[in-house]
Order: sequence, then C-alpha cells, then structure tokens
Amino acid sequence: MAELRNIVQGALLENEPMSKHTSYGIGGPASAFITPKDQYDLAEILKFSSQYSIKTHFIGSGSNLLVSDSGIDGIVLTPAKALTQLEFKDGLVIAESGVMLGRLVKECIKRNLTGLESLIGVPGTLGGALVMNAGAFGGEISNYLHSVDIMNKTGTIKTVTQEDIDFSYRFSSIAADEFVVLARFELQEELPEIIQAKKSKASQGRKTNQPLKFRSAGSVFKNPPKFAAGYLIDQTGLKGTKVGDAEISQHHANFFVNHGKAKSSDITALIRLARKSVFDKFGIKLELEVKTIGFNPQELDSDNAS
Ligand SMILES: Cc1cc2nc3c(=O)[nH]c(=O)nc-3n(C[C@H](O)[C@H](O)[C@H](O)COP(=O)(O)OP(=O)(O)OC[C@H]3O[C@@H](n4cnc5c(N)ncnc54)[C@H](O)[C@@H]3O)c2cc1C
Repeated sequence: MAELRNIVQGALLENEPMSKHTSYGIGGPASAFITPKDQYDLAEILKFSSQYSIKTHFIGSGSNLLVSDSGIDGIVLTPAKALTQLEFKDGLVIAESGVMLGRLVKECIKRNLTGLESLIGVPGTLGGALVMNAGAFGGEISNYLHSVDIMNKTGTIKTVTQEDIDFSYRFSSIAADEFVVLARFELQEELPEIIQAKKSKASQGRKTNQPLKFRSAGSVFKNPPKFAAGYLIDQTGLKGTKVGDAEISQHHANFFVNHGKAKSSDITALIRLARKSVFDKFGIKLELEVKTIGFNPQELDSDNAS
C-alpha cells in the first residue's frame, strides 16, 4: 500500500466502503479506491497493479453494480469526478469516461444535437454506459458512437472505432481489463422542438415506469427474447416480496430496491428467488444485467434458491 500511495497522484482511499459508491448503497470495503488524477496517473496505476498482479476493478458511478458486503480485496479504479472533460470540436462530441451521462445528454441537447436524448435520466458515467451499452426508449449509447480510447493494463491507449466493438442489447465486447478513457460521438443537428419531444417522452416514460424514490441499480435482469423480465417476475407473484430491507419493487418487478439497510445477501436472496420462480413457471433462465463483484456463482444461482 505504501508503494501504491507513492504512485497515485489522484485520490486514494483505503478500506473505502463501496456502499458509498453504488446506487444500491450496498457493498463492503475496497482495499484501495482510486480516482486517478489524469490519464498519465491512470497508466502508472495500471502498470503497477499489473506488475504486482493486484486484482483491479473498474467502475463508473456504480449504478449497475452489486458489490458483496465482504468487500473487494484489491484496487477499484474510477474516472468519475476526475476524467470529466467534454468538448465539441470538428463535428465531434469528445467526452472523457468520467463525464456523467446526464451532463453529456444535456450539453448535446443545448447545442441542438440529436441522438442521445432518449438516454436522459439514465444514471452513471459515460464509461459505464459504453461498457453496458446503456439504452432507453429505442436508443442505445453505441448508436452514434464514432470511436473510443481504451487503455490496457500496460498503460497503452488504443483507439477503436464503433465497428471494432461488438455492441448488442446491454452488451459490449469491451473486456474487463480494458479501461475506457474517452469516447467520441458524431451527432447531427435537429430542430429543437423535435429533440425536446423525444426527451420529454423518455423522461415521462421513466417517471411512470421506474421506482425512482428508492435506491436500486436499475433492471436486475436482462429481458429475455420475447418477454420483459419484469413481466415474467410479476407473473410469478413476487412483486413486493421482501428479504431484510430489500424488496422486489411493487412498481416494477425487475427493480429490486433497498429501503435503507439492505445487505448484499438480501439482494442475492431475491435474485435466486426470482430466477427460480421464473424458471419453474416459464422454463426461462434469467440472465443478470447488473454487474456483480465479490460473489460465488452459487450465491447468484437459482439452483440455490431458498
Ligand atoms: C434508477 C436507475 C435507472 C436505470 N435505467 C437504465 C436504463 O434506462 N437503461 C440502461 O441501460 N441502464 C439503466 N440503469 C443502469 C445504469 O444506469 C447503466 O448501466 C449505466 O450505464 C451504468 O453506468 P455506471 O457509470 O454507473 O457504471 P457502473 O455501474 O459503475 O459499471 C457498470 C460496468 O461498466 C464497467 N465500467 C464502468 N466504467 C468503466 C470504465 N471507465 N472503463 C471500463 N469499464 C468500466 C464496470 O466494470 C461494470 O462492468 C439504471 C440504473 C438506475 C439506478
């Protein structure tokens, strides 16, 4: 740790509770929670963690993340609050990965640039949005992507174009050991009233459909082909089911909410229960959309439902 402290120029927090960095408000301590100062700092930290084979996780703002109460033995790296440059130059929108998606969308709307407005209200950073291929109301972040700068564990940056990455529903082929540093988008101008109409439709839909008053990580499961995961869970009668302080939302069955003191084990118990109930009733195995850190596969598997 002393050596790491000498290298890091940004912020290094030791034994930092991950509950402070996830929208669930859940998660035990990370040995080292680091916000690099800039790309050079990031490169040095990645080289160090690779040289000493230290397990390293990348996160954005933790809005699609479930972290175990036992925490993370290793380094957690985030660009949030540090890599936050955003520019509009040569017909491109150029944003560092720590830019919040909401800010990016609003700045594009201000300039009458269309493409990202359906993502209004999706929490998180640009980096997280790209890795998850975040989408809402018919639009996905990858739709207007031009290129991405990715740093690997040797601290080297490569620029890849949209076509170099496989994007599909809530999936990108960006690997777990690749850090998204920056992305460029190519957006077209549009009449402000058309952009505003799309934005309002998305905001309204979100307010109606999602339990926004409570802490959650958005959709827990991906929608399987043909059905919405929320519909399937609802059909098993699980809406409103509680384990500890966690609940399968009464409002939207694919959102599991934390009423304040939920533990990661409360959420995983609901995950197993929903998976088992949906499999028993429909023969469909639900796939997690939320990313998890620090669990055994058995903790998340419906075969172990209790
Ligand atoms: C109330 C609510 C509503 C939501 N609605 C939607 C919605 O409508 N549509 C939707 O798609 N999602 C939705 N989500 C989920 C979430 O907002 C998105 O998945 C978001 O894009 C995650 O961004 P993040 O920065 O929080 O990423 P995190 O949750 O921190 O991380 C997500 C993944 O990205 C990786 N990652 C993050 N940053 C980087 C980086 N710089 N380099 C490499 N890897 C990185 C992490 O390792 C992890 O695998 C919702 C969540 C909430 C809480």
